[in-house]
Amino acid sequence: MPVDTDGLLSQSIDVRRARRRSVELSLEAGRLVARVPSRMARRDFEPLLEELRGQLLDRLSRQRVFDDDALLRRAHEVQRRHLRDQVLGSFEVRFSRRQRKRWGSCTRRPGGGRIRISARLIGHPNWVLDHILLHELSHLIHPNHGPEFQKLVQRSPDHERGQGYLEALESVDLLDPLVD
Ligand SMILES: [Zn+2]
Repeated sequence: MPVDTDGLLSQSIDVRRARRRSVELSLEAGRLVARVPSRMARRDFEPLLEELRGQLLDRLSRQRVFDDDALLRRAHEVQRRHLRDQVLGSFEVRFSRRQRKRWGSCTRRPGGGRIRISARLIGHPNWVLDHILLHELSHLIHPNHGPEFQKLVQRSPDHERGQGYLEALESVDLLDPLVD
């Protein structure tokens, strides 16, 4: 059973008819979209969609983030999932190789926020990156770690697990304390 990182197992599939011979399922801006041959009967493609869903989830859960583009996509996904009702303004996200003592940082500027994630997190599980991204994105709204900030970061069901993971990683990496 693949890891259902984005609630994709329960999401309904948007079926679009197309002039094509085969059934295809893809993830488009966080939505499951199926392209199905125009005349194919529902009973013929429905079982196939579930099989394709399983394969897609499998692939996604194996995918890890190794570059800035993928990191930015991840950040938008976290925003969509947890901070939809918040106004973040524009922001950019990148890995930083100079950032050795902190997992992440967020600078608020008039032109938009600047988020940096330590390059030491490259290749770690997506949910760990999501955890740190949610922390930094929440700083675009609250610069401190006060109660309002805590409410935002705790929207993720992985909050505690993420803290624990980073703490464990720090004890191996001998980093200074956590994110700020
Ligand atoms: Zn912080």
